[in-house]
Amino acid sequence: MRRKLVAGNWKMNKNIDETAELVRSLAASVKDLPADADIVICPPFVSLVIAKPLLENTRIGLGAQNMSQQDDGAFTGETSARMLLSAGCTHVILGHSERRQFYGENDPLINKKVQKAIAAGLTPIVCVGETLQERESGITDRVITAQIKGVLAGISADDIGKVVIAYEPVWAIGTGKNATPQQANDVHRLIRKLLGQLYSWAAAEQLIILYGGSVNAQNAGTLFREPDIDGGLIGGASLKADGFTAIITAALEASKK
Ligand code: PEP
Repeated sequence: MRRKLVAGNWKMNKNIDETAELVRSLAASVKDLPADADIVICPPFVSLVIAKPLLENTRIGLGAQNMSQQDDGAFTGETSARMLLSAGCTHVILGHSERRQFYGENDPLINKKVQKAIAAGLTPIVCVGETLQERESGITDRVITAQIKGVLAGISADDIGKVVIAYEPVWAIGTGKNATPQQANDVHRLIRKLLGQLYSWAAAEQLIILYGGSVNAQNAGTLFREPDIDGGLIGGASLKADGFTAIITAALEASKK
């Protein structure tokens, strides 16, 4: 039985004081929830160090939103896996569609980052997803298959269990248009089958596949009850403690089934 995971992608939101405030209210609001689902928040880099001590003795883990494919060195503006570990991160989002769209990231680069994260002991949350044009052209399956093969190239059977996949249709991110539970589950199923072929059915059955794209307190429950949806990567709705807590509660409810 896979555990549900709810991860908050804060994107470029919240300064240090605002981070402290949100982490405190989130910690208070999830304090008494059952421990049957995992929770991670991914604030901006500069807020990681302030968030970490506030997360002590809570069930909320810490992640980053990106990472360099390089080790420490002359790479201006970059942040290494070793730095994220020392800041207390356990997770890192890689290959988010905004990184692909605005910063030119592609599957080979994301693959290098995934390899680096695994080698460092960080759990990569690796994002894939089709654009609206790709969906409307009927090539969603082909696009997702190519992305999965690209971002996971060279990842061994021993390491595949250390990866979390996030299926995020680009047309659903920040648009208020989420995929229907059936549309999302179909792609999750495709990803799981593909991983079964690339690795083994046992490995594919264990793999956590998150859905992301305009998830909110109202739609989270129906999405998370789908058999191949193991939780969510949440953008906008992770920026308010009550809304994010409602989504975590939906994940807890869905894991009872
Ligand atoms: C995201 O940024 O990963 C995301 C899914 O955003 P939103 O929930 O705002 O659509």
